[in-house]
Amino acid sequence: MKVLVINCGSSSIKYQLFNMDNEEVLAKGLVERIGIEGSILIHKVNGEKYDIKEVIKDHKDGVRLVIEALTNKEYGVIADMSEISAVGHRVVHGGEKYASSVVINDEVMKSIEDCVKLAPLHNPPNIIGINACKEMMPEVPMVAVFDTAFHQTMPKEAYLYPIPYELYENDAIRKYGFHGTSHKYVTQKAAEMIGKNVDDINIITCHLGNGASLAAVKNGKSVDTSMGFTPLEGLCMGTRSGSIDPSIVTFLMKEKGYSCDEVDNILNKKSGLLGISGLSSDFRDIRSTAGEGVERSILARDIFFNKIRQYIGSYAVTLGKVDCIAFAGGIGENAALVRSEVAKGLEIIGAEIDSKLNEAAAGVEACISTESSKIKILVIPTDEELMIARDTKELCCK
Ligand code: ADP
Repeated sequence: MKVLVINCGSSSIKYQLFNMDNEEVLAKGLVERIGIEGSILIHKVNGEKYDIKEVIKDHKDGVRLVIEALTNKEYGVIADMSEISAVGHRVVHGGEKYASSVVINDEVMKSIEDCVKLAPLHNPPNIIGINACKEMMPEVPMVAVFDTAFHQTMPKEAYLYPIPYELYENDAIRKYGFHGTSHKYVTQKAAEMIGKNVDDINIITCHLGNGASLAAVKNGKSVDTSMGFTPLEGLCMGTRSGSIDPSIVTFLMKEKGYSCDEVDNILNKKSGLLGISGLSSDFRDIRSTAGEGVERSILARDIFFNKIRQYIGSYAVTLGKVDCIAFAGGIGENAALVRSEVAKGLEIIGAEIDSKLNEAAAGVEACISTESSKIKILVIPTDEELMIARDTKELCCK
């Protein structure tokens, strides 16, 4: 069975085609600059890269090109479209309605549209992508896999904000959490790695990329996570502030005369590593300039570490017993420095990192804790696309 996974942004489409008989990636790629000059499809098969430069006027055009690339005589991997059994779509927000993935029908589309107010930047391109695929492949079943779904198991005391209850009842203001597909993948993989049943594992999953979040997972279920009503809450990120005193928002508006959009822009695009360092949102740049002694890079780096430690500490208390802590995402998977610095505060909960194993682990699955550590520390390259393909297969193969 072949499953196409689609992740649609406002001007991009990421795709991967899986053979789900053995979970092999047959091809993957990225359509960029849709509707903008210089649009391009970058298609990858067996380590070979093909740049297909064409005018791509909209997402339907983009999906058409993806199908053409997948069926191309020279670099295609399937004879024709009928080989695609199902399509799995990443959808950022499923609100309170979806605690798991779902086959897309009219009712599901309506629910995804209802969530646009909760994710105005993300759900609209997801909807456009689903519609474009439906037009190009009307007979193929499609599945929505939500970033929010894994966190729907959080208890009320974790997901409610201490603000007037009516704002939850009437306006759906609560913590939803994001990166759920990644936290779920990492949880399942960690259970496999330490030889436990997924329903028995207590784990703190650290997804550290440009966007970053932690989750506290008890008996395989998310019980808390650092992102909230939006992906702005929580850790210090590449350009996002993470949690700050909410009065800073009203202060900026009242005292400095900033508009809503300006404050939104500052907190989402000009804060985090970039805001503190004034140099870059990319952790590699922060690491190297901090290493050269640039003071504001050192600060950005240390604030980043400090926030992660604080969340791990509080989630250890939430969980009571922690089997493992797992690092994933571009930073978590690759940056030994982050793992060793974060681990510095963790001896108190019995987590000890083995520095040699840590240094050696880059972008591969590994256990990096010492023999005597009470908590296993793991590196797990996340694979959200595979998770989407698995859910799609499960729902469409029944
Ligand atoms: P996104 O949230 O955009 O998916 P990624 O998971 O790709 O982000 O992570 C991007 C981050 O990972 C960047 O800050 C980048 O600097 C960092 N990163 C990637 N490779 C390395 C590496 N080898 N060492 C340290 N950081 C890395």
